[in-house]
Amino acid sequence: MTSWQGMHITVAGLGVSGVSAARALAGLGASVTVVDGGDSEALREKAAALESSTEGVRVRLGDGDTLPEGTDLIVTSPGWKPTSPLFAAAAEAGVDVVGDVEIAWRLRGRDGREAAAWLAVTGTNGKTTTTQMLASILRAAGLRTVAVGNIGTPIIDIVLGGEPYDVLAVELSSYQLHWAPSLRAHSAAVLNLAPDHLDWHGSMEAYAADKGRIYEGNRVACVYNAADKATEDLVREADVEEGCRAIGFTLGTPGPSQLGVVEGILVDRAFVENRQKNAQELAEVADVNPPAPHNIANALAAAALARAFGVPPKAVRDGLRAFRPDAHRIEHVADVDGVAYVDDSKATNTHAAEASLAAYESIVWIAGGLAKGATFDELVSKSAKRLRGVVLIGADRALIREALARHAPEVPVVDLERTDTGAMLAAVREAKRLAAAGDTVLLAPACASMDMFTNYNKRGDAFAEAVSELASADG
Ligand code: ADP
Repeated sequence: MTSWQGMHITVAGLGVSGVSAARALAGLGASVTVVDGGDSEALREKAAALESSTEGVRVRLGDGDTLPEGTDLIVTSPGWKPTSPLFAAAAEAGVDVVGDVEIAWRLRGRDGREAAAWLAVTGTNGKTTTTQMLASILRAAGLRTVAVGNIGTPIIDIVLGGEPYDVLAVELSSYQLHWAPSLRAHSAAVLNLAPDHLDWHGSMEAYAADKGRIYEGNRVACVYNAADKATEDLVREADVEEGCRAIGFTLGTPGPSQLGVVEGILVDRAFVENRQKNAQELAEVADVNPPAPHNIANALAAAALARAFGVPPKAVRDGLRAFRPDAHRIEHVADVDGVAYVDDSKATNTHAAEASLAAYESIVWIAGGLAKGATFDELVSKSAKRLRGVVLIGADRALIREALARHAPEVPVVDLERTDTGAMLAAVREAKRLAAAGDTVLLAPACASMDMFTNYNKRGDAFAEAVSELASADG
């Protein structure tokens, strides 16, 4: 067990996870220096509050690049790229770099109680939803659990918090996995793999390798997506404990060691193994909220992890029924004149937008924002037949407009040429004009929001407000 007493630890980044790490490690007797390249008024206030409330912590602002003298270990925040000068200095000095998840892993079970098992989830899209579904299923089984990691309370605070848990549902980002070398989960799932965050990781190979770290040392099950070969490849490459099984999930009839869907029923992997359909029913498709294909995949992944932990089939059904998705994830906002308005502002990349466009038949699509280097040809060509019309907003809308001209020239497009916040009301007005009864107006931007909004939440809120304004103007 690591002895933290007297250790000199540098925490990179004065964000939520940095503050949590600094407090916890100082509390264990380490001498902590938090470094941050920023030097704003808000950061200075935060630094002063941390230093005055926590003995053993000092903060250095305005320089995030140089390694403080005497550093034994760096604990970094996700925002710091592996190529940061601080880490080059650390490599030169032979100092290890880890993240908050690694610290939480090393601290688990410190109070002498048996540590909770970790069921871990990663993937390009669907992490939060799947982790929350998993927590809901575990709760339905009467287990003490919490969804944690890349969501909610910082994971170090949960591990040290004194509240006893049987099992943790842990969402892990590729950044967190990159900096968590000794993590060994009970079981883990990679939901899907598509290009994202490549500027941080450097290449698709490096991104996939970091995602694949989640399987290393798994004890019971590695859960993969049978429709996404890259996830299965990661299982094959992982070094796992003896007896650990590879378990796939599929939206079709499952093969051996797979969960799947048969006649609208989610079935367990023993369906094929035993040929006893009734005994292996987990839930109905209609129990999944919303029952869109990508979300059924999320539910199967959550069920596979829960089953690997020994949860009975009935708890899978109860947990899925009790689950409510977070806001801005395929959220049904209103029905106006027979048209459904759906907010999937969280679809911030093309892979996510493709999933939500696949969930509806006749769509007026509101898209655009910051493309983050993405291309739109595949998304547009796959979705073209579902589009009744498109309304474009945001900085990089020309990229989508050009892809539409190439692959869906007959679909009417309104290019709003606007990036001001009022553009959302105009966009919804145009979408309403294009839509007919039975259609869905879908905000699934396939882009980040920061050109027009503080974050995707604010973008989704603006959409919902615009819908309600137009609905009441009508009424
Ligand atoms: P994450 O935590 O990985 O960002 P979320 O659960 O918050 O994922 O979902 C983000 C968006 O990704 C959703 O709004 C939806 O559009 C899309 N999405 C969710 N699950 C999947 C999936 N399994 N495959 C593809 N897209 C998905």
